[in-house]
Amino acid sequence: MYGTRVVVLGAGIVGAACARELALAGLEVTVVDRGAPASQTTAHCEGNVLVSDKGPGPELELARISRALWPEVLARIAERSPHAARAVEWDPKGGIVVATTDGGARELTRFAADQRAAGVRAEVLDADDLAKAEPYVTREHTTALLYPEDAQVQPAGAAAALLGDALAAGARLRTGCEVLGAVARAGRITAVHTSTGLVEADWFIDAAGPWAGELSARLGAPVDVRPRRGDILVTTPLPPTVFHKVYDADYVGAVGSSAEDLQTSAVVESTRGGSVLIGSSRRRVGFDDRLRPEVLSAVAAKALRLFPTLADVPVMRAYGGFRPYVPDHVPVIGADPRLEGLWHAGGHEGAGIGLSVGTARLLRNMMLGEPTVMDATPFRVDRPAVLGEGAHPVSEETT
Ligand SMILES: Cc1cc2nc3c(=O)[nH]c(=O)nc-3n(C[C@H](O)[C@H](O)[C@H](O)COP(=O)(O)OP(=O)(O)OC[C@H]3O[C@@H](n4cnc5c(N)ncnc54)[C@H](O)[C@@H]3O)c2cc1C
Repeated sequence: MYGTRVVVLGAGIVGAACARELALAGLEVTVVDRGAPASQTTAHCEGNVLVSDKGPGPELELARISRALWPEVLARIAERSPHAARAVEWDPKGGIVVATTDGGARELTRFAADQRAAGVRAEVLDADDLAKAEPYVTREHTTALLYPEDAQVQPAGAAAALLGDALAAGARLRTGCEVLGAVARAGRITAVHTSTGLVEADWFIDAAGPWAGELSARLGAPVDVRPRRGDILVTTPLPPTVFHKVYDADYVGAVGSSAEDLQTSAVVESTRGGSVLIGSSRRRVGFDDRLRPEVLSAVAAKALRLFPTLADVPVMRAYGGFRPYVPDHVPVIGADPRLEGLWHAGGHEGAGIGLSVGTARLLRNMMLGEPTVMDATPFRVDRPAVLGEGAHPVSEETT
């Protein structure tokens, strides 16, 4: 495989992780992006590396693989650049899920039992344990669970560290280079037309995040990846107030839902700089990036139910991004059966930061014909949700 030329289309965290895996495996890697690295969704999200929000299934399996890989990947990055590894702000702080209604408690208890059966650690916290772990969280709760495996990174720092490792291993980066179309011969992609000229290679990876649908259509092999908007509030730096990633039990339902209308749940976490990030919302509004006061106030109201003490805290700013989602909420990872030489790594929705390293390892396994870290079949490209009716360039959501 040495000398095989791979072009990674997109320099977000998923493209960066794929570039790193393949460059370290000795392939000749070029990463192209129409903007700057990690400047899109990867810079407009939170950095949770979660197992707690996933029910048994392929995504949970990939999340557990990724969670196990992160410390290993970061240790390797630290050998090359301690500074880059520090910028990742890896924090295995654990997550706490809090139910505030009897129905929510029942649902959370059932969900956790299924997760435990799949190998996830989920520990019930009684009222005293919860008060010790999170002194400022509401006392009006019906049950609370600690997920010790949940962790956090600074997403843009993590993407930069992964890409830096790829570049140190010989990968090249071309920014300001928009991919416009494909050159195909006998059913095989051999090059892409870009805004800065033709780029030839043996393999191409569509890692264009929420634009993966649009990009794949330009390449002649559309996949149904759509944007799902999310907005976050950022407080001014605070004295230590939130010690884990804390979210309400509604969040898990919102993650799995396909509803078009606004969904909100309280997701609260501190950052190393002291600001608290307050999310989160889910809306299907295409690529409309306007912040909506009604969305931000709905998010804030839910967060206050969880942390009443935040009522007096100033909000410094708000931002939002587009989760890349597939209608069946399962990522798309693997070879495109319609166009030889094209691979996909996307559709991670609200989990692409956490899942990036596992995705890259799985894709490398498939590309190099290695034993795979897990069964990749559930992520295959030729499933109905990926090739379905939305797999065209201009859907009702992108206009
Ligand atoms: C509010 C919010 C909160 C989130 N919180 C979390 C979280 O806590 N944990 C988590 O794991 N995930 C979270 N996510 C999801 C996560 O942000 C995404 O899954 C992840 O960033 C996707 O990374 P990516 O590399 O696939 O996409 P991106 O970061 O968007 O990168 C894609 C790149 O492709 C480039 N591109 C697109 N089209 C072209 C083209 N034609 N030519 C060249 N380049 C192109 C873009 O410029 C971009 O740089 C959140 C998302 C949102 C919106």
